[in-house]
Order: sequence, then C-alpha cells, then structure tokens
Amino acid sequence: MNKQSLVILGSTGSIGKSTLDVVDLHNDSISVYALSAYSRMQDLAQQSMKYKPRVVVVPNDMARQRFIESWNNSNTPMPEVRVGAQSLCDTVAEPEVTTVMAAIVGAAGLPATLAAVEAGKRVLLANKEALVAAGAIFMQAVRKNKAELLPIDSEHNAIFQCMPDRYKSSAPSVPANGIRRLLLTASGGPFLKTPIDDLNLVTPDQACAHPNWEMGKKISVDSATMINKGLEVIEAHWLFAMPTEKISVVIHPQSVVHSMVEYDDGSILAQLGQPDMRTPIAYGLGYPSRIKSGVGLMDITQLSALEFHDPDINRFPCLDLSFKALKEGQWACIALNAANEIAVHKFLHNEIKFTDISSLIEDTINAVCSRNNVSLNTLHDILHLDDMARRLATEFSTSCYSN
Ligand code: NAD
Ligand code: MG
Repeated sequence: MNKQSLVILGSTGSIGKSTLDVVDLHNDSISVYALSAYSRMQDLAQQSMKYKPRVVVVPNDMARQRFIESWNNSNTPMPEVRVGAQSLCDTVAEPEVTTVMAAIVGAAGLPATLAAVEAGKRVLLANKEALVAAGAIFMQAVRKNKAELLPIDSEHNAIFQCMPDRYKSSAPSVPANGIRRLLLTASGGPFLKTPIDDLNLVTPDQACAHPNWEMGKKISVDSATMINKGLEVIEAHWLFAMPTEKISVVIHPQSVVHSMVEYDDGSILAQLGQPDMRTPIAYGLGYPSRIKSGVGLMDITQLSALEFHDPDINRFPCLDLSFKALKEGQWACIALNAANEIAVHKFLHNEIKFTDISSLIEDTINAVCSRNNVSLNTLHDILHLDDMARRLATEFSTSCYSN
C-alpha cells in the first residue's frame, strides 16, 4: 500500500491517542492529514505540534480561539483551523485523504463517518454508535462507494480476523456460508459480582473503573450496564450481515479472547491478545499486512483459567433491551442509542441513578414506538428521529428520575 494519509476524528480521546501511538511506530508509511477534537484544545494543539497535520477541526469559534492561544511553538507553522461539524465532513472527503479513524464518541460521529464512507475511503470504525443509528444506509453506502470498512471495536476486529478471507473484501449483504454463530465476549464490567440490590447506589467513579480496559467515560459506563455489548450485537449484525439469532454474548471476565466465530463443522476460531486497543488499531492501519502495534507479547503460559458463562439478564437489563431493539428495527435502535447517551450523561453528572439508565431507555423506546413506521432512508431522517428520542429521554429524566 502507498503511504496512508490519515484523518483522526476524535484525536484527543482514548482511541484517538492510541491511534497516534501506533502512528508513532510507522512514520514512514502513515502521515497525519487532519486531527479533530470537541474539547481539550490544549491537547489538540500539543498533538498538532508533534504530528504536524495540515488541518485541524474544532467545534466552534471559542474552541478555535483556545486552540490558537495554546499554540506556543513559533518554529512549527499552525495548521489550518476549520470550524464546525460540516468541516469534519468536508475534510474527510478531501482527495489527499486515504484513511479515516472514526473515533468520535456517540451518534455525533455519524455524519462525518458516513461522509468518509461516501467518499470511498478506508474507514477504521471505532464509533459503534454511528452504525447502531444508521445501520442499513451506512452499509449500503459502503457497498455503493466501495469504501473499505475495517472494524476497530476489539470484538468485531476479532471476528473479522476469524472470517474467511474472501469474505473480507466488501461489506456483506448476506452472512458468510458455514457460520453457525458469532460469539461476542464481554468482561461483565466492574459490577459483574456486585449484589444486584446495591446497583442503585453505585457512583460514576465506580462505574468508570473498568477491570481490564482503559477507555473514555461514556463507553466505560456502557460496559458497566453492558449496553456496550448490546450496541456491539447491533454493530455485528450490520458489519457481518448476521441475523440476530446467530449472535450470542458470553461473559469472559479475563478479556483475553476478544470474540469467536463458530462454524458449522464444529470449529470455533478465536482471536486472543492483550486488552489493548492498539492491536485492533494496528490491524486496521496495516490491513492486509500485520504491522507493529507497540503491544507487548502475551505469555500464554502465564494465563490463569479462562472462564466463559451466560450473562444474567436481571443484572444487565440493557443487554436484553438491545436484543429487543434489534428485533424491532432501526427506529428502536436509534431510540435505544439516543436515550442511552442522554442517560449516561445524566448519570455521570449525578442527575440519575445507575439503575435509572435502563428504565429511561425502555421508556424512551416505548414512547418512540408510535413512530415505528417513519421512513429512515436518509441521514436527515435518522438524525431527526435521534433528536426526538433525545428530547423525550431528557423529558423523562427530569420528570421521573431526578435523584
Ligand atoms: P473519548 O471520550 O475518550 O473520546 C471521544 C473523542 O471524540 C474526543 O476526542 C472528543 O473531543 C471527541 N468528541 C466528543 N464529542 C464530540 C462531538 N459532538 N463532535 C466531535 N467530536 C466529539 O471516547 P473513546 O473511548 O475514545 O471512544 C470513542 C469511540 O470508540 C466510541 O464510539 C466508543 O464506543 C468506541 N470504542 C472505544 C474503545 C476504547 O477502548 N476506548 C473501544 C472500542 C470502541
Ligand atoms: Mg468492544
């Protein structure tokens, strides 16, 4: 492959930073064309001084001002500073760009990620919420524009690695032959063994203290409720054209096996590795070659017993809600995701309890239900329903669940 010219959407986040760590090891084959962030302009300026992108994208004029004030290196020319969500979409589509890391958190990342797909780029997809909200039109756009979609979420990256090679070349519209099911592993998060009656008292700090992975706050809370796994079931459905009943979730507290593909002949293929996102990121950047990620080798002789068991739906109602939403259809997946984003935000700000998250999602899906036949054929349709679900979830959270 020729030198890659990379845009990182969300470069100051956990995935964004890990991506830059991998780029550090491959300066000869990857250059950074653009970086973007929503907050932490000082971090964005530091990154830009080091990686010298041609462009940075910030959300508004105030952020632009903060970025400029943080530029304290007169030897390095400042990149062009672009402002606003449309600039993200325009930047990813530029002809100089070969590769886009989609690492914005939440459905806010959808327009720019879809723009990268529509421009036919290599898209490294960490931003699972984009696919949850826009599944069908997103995958159609991948096929139509011959974009190269590589899953970065560790489970989907593991499954991709375990798929037949001929199946990796394009976004499938039918499942690969011979697969009995996909097994998505889940650590179970920090509350796997907490007495269920105590869950209404857990704090944001406790919810963000994931036992195995270091991640952004939103996905950490998602892991604690296990809606993260529910969103991943929906993500797997779209990425691999897999029917819901052929996707299973299995609790695996050690996070060594990142997911598995079970074939009709009785074989189960798995991908194992350290719980470190630099491995799937390097896989996506290097594909189809294997390149260094900076992750140390795993000594399998030092592994303790690996456990696998079924999730407890009473403990993790969000998982059940996700399976139900996938069966209901796109409208329910949009409502599930939007309500969850509102609920997590409120939980992180101590406005609702941890156990309110699932109730708020359920109530929002029930309220949006009457719109189950609205057309969802365009990005505009999807964002419209997403916005409505957010408003409903916000309303419910203030009237019903305030602490
Ligand atoms: P994070 O919160 O650490 O970083 C998010 C980034 O997005 C930041 O750079 C932030 O400035 C930017 N951002 C936030 N809101 C924005 C908006 N409205 N517009 C534009 N930019 C915005 O999140 P993260 O943990 O890096 O996760 C990023 C995505 O990757 C999420 O979708 C998450 O589910 C997925 N993911 C993360 C991990 C992980 O280990 N962190 C693993 C698998 C998948
Ligand atoms: Mg994951």
